[in-house]
Amino acid sequence: MAGKIIVIGGGVSGLTAGVYALLEGFEVEIYEAHHVLGGMCAQWQRKGSICTSAIHWMMGAQDDSDLNEIWKTVGAIDQNTPFFTLDYVSAFPNGNTYCYLYADIEKLETELLQLSPQDENAIKELVREIKIYQKLPIPANKPMDLMEPMEKAISFAPYIKAQKNSSLKNMSVAEYAERFQSPVIRHLLLSIVPDSRLSINMLLIWLSSNCNGNMSFPLSGFFEMTKRMEQKFLSLGGKIHAKTAVRQIIIENGTATGVLLADGRKVVVDYIIPTVSPDVLFNELLDNQYHDIYFGQRFATPAHFLTPALTLVNLSVQADMSKLPHTLVVVLQHPLFIHKTEVNYLKINHYSFSSHFCKGGKTLVQVVLHEQEFAYWEKLKTASEVEYQQVKEKIAKQIIIEIEHVYPETSGKIELLDVATPLTLQRYCHSYRGAYLSFCNMHHQEQRENHEGKIHGIKNMFLGGQWVFQEGGIALAAISGKFAVQRICNQHNRNII
Ligand SMILES: Cc1cc2nc3c(=O)[nH]c(=O)nc-3n(C[C@H](O)[C@H](O)[C@H](O)COP(=O)(O)OP(=O)(O)OC[C@H]3O[C@@H](n4cnc5c(N)ncnc54)[C@H](O)[C@@H]3O)c2cc1C
Repeated sequence: MAGKIIVIGGGVSGLTAGVYALLEGFEVEIYEAHHVLGGMCAQWQRKGSICTSAIHWMMGAQDDSDLNEIWKTVGAIDQNTPFFTLDYVSAFPNGNTYCYLYADIEKLETELLQLSPQDENAIKELVREIKIYQKLPIPANKPMDLMEPMEKAISFAPYIKAQKNSSLKNMSVAEYAERFQSPVIRHLLLSIVPDSRLSINMLLIWLSSNCNGNMSFPLSGFFEMTKRMEQKFLSLGGKIHAKTAVRQIIIENGTATGVLLADGRKVVVDYIIPTVSPDVLFNELLDNQYHDIYFGQRFATPAHFLTPALTLVNLSVQADMSKLPHTLVVVLQHPLFIHKTEVNYLKINHYSFSSHFCKGGKTLVQVVLHEQEFAYWEKLKTASEVEYQQVKEKIAKQIIIEIEHVYPETSGKIELLDVATPLTLQRYCHSYRGAYLSFCNMHHQEQRENHEGKIHGIKNMFLGGQWVFQEGGIALAAISGKFAVQRICNQHNRNII
C-alpha cells in the first residue's frame, strides 16, 4: 500500500478523489456525515414521488476531453449510460410560441435574428464571443502547480488568446443585456446566470459550453450517477463510513495525522482530503486555528464574492407535459418576494423525458428561484418552525398559480412535493450560506482565481471540493478530487496520474 488516505465528504469530489487514490494504490476511507453519499447530487422521496436537486448540465459527458476521461475513470458514465442531450437549454414564451436558446450555434443565431432583426450587430457579436469561448478546454489534466513551465505556457495559451480576441469584458451580465433592444433576449440572458451582477465571463462560459453540445442529462439523474461512482469506489476496495461526521482534523507539528470523529473515535492516516465547505473546514475541523488568504478574503467581503443560493420547489403534475419545453423561463406576472429578494424569473423544468422521474402518468416538475436570503431563512426557522413552513407553502402556491398560467393544461393537476430553501442545503450538505455553487467573483475586471489546494502550515492535507475553484459545479468538483490525489502523488514522489 502507498499509504492511507481519509476523504472527508462523499459528494462528487470525495468520490472522485477516492477512486483516483485507490487506483494509485492507496488505502482509502470516505467519511460522510449524511446517511447517504452523493452530497448535493441528492434525490429524495415525497408523497410517493422522487424529488431531485436541479442539476441540468453536465459538462464533459459526451466528448473526448480530459474531463470525460475523469467521468469514465470514476464510473460516473460508460458507453451504456443513456443521456438526454439538450437540443436547447431553455425556452422563453414569445407570443403564442417560444424563443429557444439552442445548443447549435447556427440555429441559435438564426433564432435570435428572427426574433429581433434590429439587434443584428449585438447578436453577431454575441455569437462571435461564444465561438471564442467554445475553443477553451476545461483544464482537467493536472493542477497548474504540478506543470512544467512549458506545459503551463501551452495550457495558458488558449486563454490568453481568448482574452486578446474577446471584446466583451469588464462588465456585468446586467450591463451587457442592455445592449439588446429585444426584451425577450434581455430576459433570456439575465435568467441564465444566478445573479445579474455576475461577470459577463460566466455567461459566456455557460453559453459556450451549451453550444459545445456539452450539456447532457443522464436519464436516471445525478444521484444515480454518484451511486455508480460509489460502486466503483467499493469495487476497488475502498471503505465508506456513512452517517459518520468528522469533528476535527488532528494536526501534530504542522502535519495532518488523523481525524477525530463525532462519535469520539480517532483514526490515524497518512493523508487527508477534505471536500467540505470552507466554513466547516476552518471553523469546525480546524477549530479556527488556521487562516487562509484566499478563503479569508471571500468570507470577509461577501459583496465581492457571491455564493449563489436557491429555493427549489419540486412538484408532481398529473399530466403529460412532453410536448412542452422541458425548461421554460418565465417572467413572473407579479414579482415574488423572498424577504428582500425580488424574484422576477421562474425557471420551470420538467422531466417528462425520463421514466426514472416520471411514473404512473405523473411528471416531475421543478422550479428554481435564485435568491440570497440564507440569514432570513435561518432566523425564520429558529423563531418558528410553523412560520417557516407557512412561508414555504405561500411561495409554492404562487408558483403553482404561475405554472397554471403558462401551462393551462396543468390546471388543478399540480401537487406540491417539497420546498427546499438555502437552509435545507446547508443542513443536508453543510454548505456555506446554503450555496449550491462556489464563490463567484464580482470584480468583473479580474482574472479567474482558484485556490492552490493546500493550507499553509499544514502538511499532508490537500483540499478537494468545488470550493477550491471559482464558480464550482459538478465538473469542477470532480476535477478538484483528482487534483488533490495528484498533489499527494507528487509529494509521495509517485508519477502523476
Ligand atoms: C439544486 C442544485 C442544482 C445544481 N445544478 C447544477 C448544475 O446544473 N450543474 C452543475 O455542474 N452543478 C450544479 N449544482 C452544483 C453541484 O451539485 C455541486 O457543484 C457538486 O455536487 C458539489 O460536489 P462536492 O463534492 O464538491 O460537494 P458536496 O456535494 O457538498 O459534498 C460535500 C459532502 O461533505 C459532507 N460533509 C460536510 N461536513 C462533513 C463532516 N464534518 N464530516 C463528514 N462529511 C461532511 C456533506 O454532507 C456532503 O455530502 C447544483 C447543486 C444544487 C444543490
